[in-house]
Amino acid sequence: MDVLDHADLAFPQSLPEFQRLFPDDAACAAYLEKARWDGGFICPHCQAGGEPFRFDNRAGVLRCRKCLKNTGLMVGTVMERSHTPLSVWFWAAYLVASQTPGMSAVQFQRQLGLSRYETAFGILHKLRAGMVRPDQDRIGGTAVGHVEVDEAYVGGKTRGEGRGVHHKTLVVAAVEVRRREPGSAQDKRNDGRYAGRVRLAVAADRSADALGGFVESAVMPGSLVVTDDWSGYASLRKRGYDHRAIAECGDREVAEQFLPVSHLVFSNLKSWLNGIHHGVSAKHLQAYLNEFTFRFNRRFYPFNAFRSLLGIAGDATAPTFAELYSGQWKHPRCSGYGR
Ligand SMILES: [Zn+2]
Repeated sequence: MDVLDHADLAFPQSLPEFQRLFPDDAACAAYLEKARWDGGFICPHCQAGGEPFRFDNRAGVLRCRKCLKNTGLMVGTVMERSHTPLSVWFWAAYLVASQTPGMSAVQFQRQLGLSRYETAFGILHKLRAGMVRPDQDRIGGTAVGHVEVDEAYVGGKTRGEGRGVHHKTLVVAAVEVRRREPGSAQDKRNDGRYAGRVRLAVAADRSADALGGFVESAVMPGSLVVTDDWSGYASLRKRGYDHRAIAECGDREVAEQFLPVSHLVFSNLKSWLNGIHHGVSAKHLQAYLNEFTFRFNRRFYPFNAFRSLLGIAGDATAPTFAELYSGQWKHPRCSGYGR
C-alpha cells in the first residue's frame, strides 16, 4: 500500500501496516501534502504551481520555486507551531483513533517514547480537544428511517459516598435508527435495527423547553421522531417534527421494543463512563458526551477519525498548549440545554 497512490485509503488495520504507511516524517509530510493539494502543490503566496523545493531536515516545509516563500504543511492543523516530529503526531492520532480511550498522559508518553511528560500531555489534550468539538450538522432527515429520542440519568459515582444516585445528571439522546438489509448476517438482532449517528447533551430537566430545545438543535426538522409519551415531548409536532409517542414506556419491555437503539446507546455510554473514567462529574460531562459521540459516529470509519484528530479533515482547530494550561479554553457547548 502506497500513501500517494490511494486517494481514499483504508485505515491501517494493524501496527505493522501503520508503520509501513508512515515510516518517517517524510512519509507523513507526503501524506499531508496529498491531503491538501490532490493535484499537486499550489503556492498559497503566489498561486504558482509546480514542484516546490524540499528540505531533508525540515519535512513539513515546502518552498515555492517562483516566489521562494515557505509553506508549512502543519499550518491550520492541530500540529501547527508544534516542535514534535510529524511521525509522533501521526502515531499519537492513530493511538487515539483506534479506541484507546482510557489512556493516561503517562501511558501515552511511554507509548510515544517521549522524554517529557508535558509533550505527551499537550499532544493528548490537543487531539482530544478535536473530539470534544461537537459535530455541527443535525442528524435525521427524511432519508433516514427515524430518530429515537430518549433521556436517562448517567454518571454520579462519587468516591466515599457509597452507592446510589448521587450526582446523577440528566442526558438526552437522539439516535438515527437504520436497518440492515433483510437476509444479511445480522438482520435478526434487534429486528435488523442499529444505530446511525447520535447526538447527546446534558439537559437541565425533563421540561418541554429542555427536551424540545435539544431536539431542535440536534435533529433535522421534518424527521420522524419516536419518543415515549412523556409530556416533555408533546411540543415536537408543533416544532415541525413527525412525532410518534409510544404509550406505556414506563413498562420496560415496551420501551425495549420501541426504543431499543437509544437504550443500547445509553448502556454503551454508561459502561464507557463508569468503566473507563470511573464516573465523571457533571461539570465535565458534556465534554465526555462529545468525545463519546465523536467515537460512536466514526466507529465504522476510523480513518475519518484519524484525519479529524490531526485537523486535516478541515473541521477542527484545537486550542494551543498555552490556552489549555491557562484555563482560558472552554469545551464548546458545555452549558447544557434548558439553562
Ligand atoms: Zn510562490
